Amino acid sequence: MFSDIIANIPWNETTEKIMSKTESDVLRALSKKRCDVDDLMALISPAAEPYLEVMARLSQKYTLERFGKTMQMFIPMYMTNSCTNSCVYCGFHVANKMKRTVLNLEQIEEEYKAIKKLSPFDNILLLTGENPAVADTEYIARAIELARNYFANIKIEVMPLSTEDYAYLTTKGLNGVICFQETYNKDRYKVYHPRGMKSNYEWRLNGYDRMGMAGVHSIGMGALIGLEDWRTEVTMMAHHLRYLEKTYWKTKYSVNFPRMRPSENGGFQPNVIMSDRELAQVTFAFRIFDHDVDISYSTREPKEIRDNMATLGVTTMSAESHTEPGGYSHPHCAVEQFEVSDARKAVDVAADLRKIGREPVWKDWDDVMN
Ligand code: SF4
Repeated sequence: MFSDIIANIPWNETTEKIMSKTESDVLRALSKKRCDVDDLMALISPAAEPYLEVMARLSQKYTLERFGKTMQMFIPMYMTNSCTNSCVYCGFHVANKMKRTVLNLEQIEEEYKAIKKLSPFDNILLLTGENPAVADTEYIARAIELARNYFANIKIEVMPLSTEDYAYLTTKGLNGVICFQETYNKDRYKVYHPRGMKSNYEWRLNGYDRMGMAGVHSIGMGALIGLEDWRTEVTMMAHHLRYLEKTYWKTKYSVNFPRMRPSENGGFQPNVIMSDRELAQVTFAFRIFDHDVDISYSTREPKEIRDNMATLGVTTMSAESHTEPGGYSHPHCAVEQFEVSDARKAVDVAADLRKIGREPVWKDWDDVMN
């Protein structure tokens, strides 16, 4: 399990190592065909900042080699904003007095139909808060079964499940699972997740192992940028990715660097800021580190950044996202999890991608591949 591995990677020492990287470490990493985590540390360090252009060119080259000029498109759909957790940075946390919505199957189908009218999305990400009393594995299974009538590729972003539950959902048509560790810093994890199921650091961290053991086809990972030192977070994520790739080698992986956005909660201010330049740096560094991993940007990021990075390393994007349950058939009917930055319609995102020479791909999976 990854919890055993990360226990031997001290947080503060890792931060110090990153900050002490030199120009020659950066040049060594840039000259390698296969980078290790130590090289990634050099590429995300301040010493690499003067090499951003070189990194962008390399990242673009590897992305073109592996992914061509395509961009996978997906759409997130929230099934409920009910949650028993108390993540201090999230508008859905249990103490927030707000109307909770749990879509029933009829309303879920209404959402699927509304999404289909927007654009030919075939990749859907189904999300819930974490409240098994109203959204348990069976509820998710029913939503997946129904989604199969409308979508070819179905992923979920829900509470971490058991190996058996992931395996069961795979039999229902599940193709992938996305889960954000939020922070890899065990000592600080409880500060942000004080109560509820999510306060169990190990259960969340080892969820990726359970996905791998269950044979989930694709696993998406990320750390929430804004909690702890971002360079150390992405280094821990790189260790995690390498471990998973080695252990569950049949699985496909994606990474994401979500920067914190204002939520309805309003009270939480990010502890650390990742600038636009630093987001570009970490994106290029990850592509140079891992040529095959999908790099995903959501509508948290503004149009300009998404368009710019679409040719330089990013391979998956969401579009026209609503973060409130029921939001596609009845916009603004419920509280949003966070405000999106890029509010363009999916057709406009697609048109803008074509203008910069990228072909939006709405479908990347078919049942015949099962
Ligand atoms: S981040 Fe997820 S688990 Fe935490 S309060 Fe929000 S919806 Fe619940």
